[in-house]
Amino acid sequence: MLIVGGMAAFSAGLAGRLQSAVPSSDAEALRLPFRSDAEVLVSPPFLPPSSFVSDARPTLATADRDWGRLEPRFARAVLDIAAKMERRGYPVVLIEGYRSPERQDLLADSEQRLTQARGFQSRHQFGLAADLAPLRDGRIILSERDPWAWQAYQALGEEVEAAGLVWGGRWSLRDYGHVESANRPLTTGG
Ligand SMILES: [Zn+2]
Repeated sequence: MLIVGGMAAFSAGLAGRLQSAVPSSDAEALRLPFRSDAEVLVSPPFLPPSSFVSDARPTLATADRDWGRLEPRFARAVLDIAAKMERRGYPVVLIEGYRSPERQDLLADSEQRLTQARGFQSRHQFGLAADLAPLRDGRIILSERDPWAWQAYQALGEEVEAAGLVWGGRWSLRDYGHVESANRPLTTGG
């Protein structure tokens, strides 16, 4: 399922962006997870944009999935969680990362009411939130009603909380694939 060449290019690209985004003294530390001999960090599989087009969540087609637009340390933590999920047999993919305030309003106003948070009320606007979904046989399974996906989302929740991050599966408006940084208190989810 994983494309080895694609992964290497992916990691190199992300490391490059991290390097340019932080002072040089921090750059080496940020690159380390991609070079570690103790633990090989496996990047989520690359999927073509058409994989994200679905009737269930049409808004996903235009979502931003650029890991480089996430805050570097948060991106590293989420990639680490993705590697752990892969080892547990639940590969995951980033379905949405950075989200503009305009897009946040659009989702809040949508018929599906995908979020209660408006622009700048979600950590997605600060590069501190990511939406993940499990992959089965190379296909994204969005709905937690799928029994296999339910198990995958529970495993995700365990890994997210073990990493000290916040899992949307605990919210009143459950958002099982949502992961966010615990650093910055916000009153609403998203
Ligand atoms: Zn989210």
